[in-house]
Amino acid sequence: SSEGLIEGHVGRGTLVKRSSLQIDDDYFEQATPSWLLGLSASEDALLGPDARFLSEISSMEERQEIISLAQGTPPPDMLPAEVIQSLMANNLANARQSALGYCPMDGLLSLRRGIAARMRQRGVQVDVQNILILSGSTQGLGLIGRFLLTPGDEVVVEVPTYLGAIQMFRALGARIIGIPTDNEGMRVDLLEAILARRQPRFIYTLPTFQNPTGAVMSLARRRRLLQLARRYQVPIVEDDAYGEIYFGDKAPEPLKALDTYGNVLYLSTYSKMLAPGLRVAWLTAPVPMIERLSLYKQTFDLNTNAIGQWIISEMIRRNLLDEHLQLARQCYQQKLALMLEAIETYWPAGGRVHPPTGGMHLWYRLPGDMRARHLLREAVHEQVAFVMGELFHVDGGGHHYLRLSFAAPEEKHITEGIRRIGIAMRRLLAR
Ligand code: PMP
Repeated sequence: SSEGLIEGHVGRGTLVKRSSLQIDDDYFEQATPSWLLGLSASEDALLGPDARFLSEISSMEERQEIISLAQGTPPPDMLPAEVIQSLMANNLANARQSALGYCPMDGLLSLRRGIAARMRQRGVQVDVQNILILSGSTQGLGLIGRFLLTPGDEVVVEVPTYLGAIQMFRALGARIIGIPTDNEGMRVDLLEAILARRQPRFIYTLPTFQNPTGAVMSLARRRRLLQLARRYQVPIVEDDAYGEIYFGDKAPEPLKALDTYGNVLYLSTYSKMLAPGLRVAWLTAPVPMIERLSLYKQTFDLNTNAIGQWIISEMIRRNLLDEHLQLARQCYQQKLALMLEAIETYWPAGGRVHPPTGGMHLWYRLPGDMRARHLLREAVHEQVAFVMGELFHVDGGGHHYLRLSFAAPEEKHITEGIRRIGIAMRRLLAR
């Protein structure tokens, strides 16, 4: 009362005075809290101008009228719904504790065992204690990044490279050094000069079916990369999201298989092999690293969702994962052939493409000086989308490239999508 905030009225009680309510009125008239208004500026500073692009690609999937050749994910008909349904109907009740309880923080033991055995089949000499289950390999990139980097540190990546990794390392305040790539992967010959002069905290590479180029690093370069990393004592982060989606007769060996020194931190995921919605991935690394990151991981999610781990562990145990992978490889290889054929039919001459031998993406060099950004603008009028090459470049390049995903779209949409991009290309060329 002495501060003038309330007043008493005989018979009506004590009321808050109008003048003090005034402040609240103004406050409620403001449509958005002020701390929320400040967010977009700090987010752009943290993540960079293209930060929203990934989420825009994902939401495009929900717009039925647009044919999206942008997303690298399994198509709906390859998501193993029936297998999961049957596992749940027949086995979940007996496995309720492992599938629905909290699980060990380094992951379900049965899954770690299954993964270790599969890695040994691919030439990587590891045991279960070398495996840490992750909530997506994105979590792995984040954990490794936070563990090894302080803001201002340098990281080596390939040019081009996976957009999500660029965003992650930027968000953690890293300065990114790009090494060019060609059809045999990273130009390792250009790496030594960098390692000799600077001290990057790690080298991030996608040696097998690179995203976005689809390239496979040659054996000679793999050996040289391991040698250099050892000489300069720099760890390598190998991202092998697509390694098991190969179209040849034999599974390619991971870089990790050649790593007798324990210098490679290997990441892979079930997002491409099975279903991104499961959010299950893993890290293979030397035991001290697994132990540290496992403790650190706890502070983010306590443990990876158990039911996803249980499903995958059962699929491995019952040989269902291999059956599924065989179908997926056939399906994606067929779709790739269809996409190449459509490009041949509908696109003007002058572009360049190196058909990948696995993975989900086709990397295309547009004819002449045509820019992917201009083409995308035209393509969206034709209701079709792809990803501009520049988003994968940390050196400001890539303007004449685009990435097409052949795995996710339906077959009829591959042909139609390519036909529509062809229309957009001819319109640009006619200008
Ligand atoms: N690495 C690469 C190379 C990828 O392409 C992707 C998914 N686009 C990821 C990591 C992230 O996968 P996850 O769903 O396991 O987080």
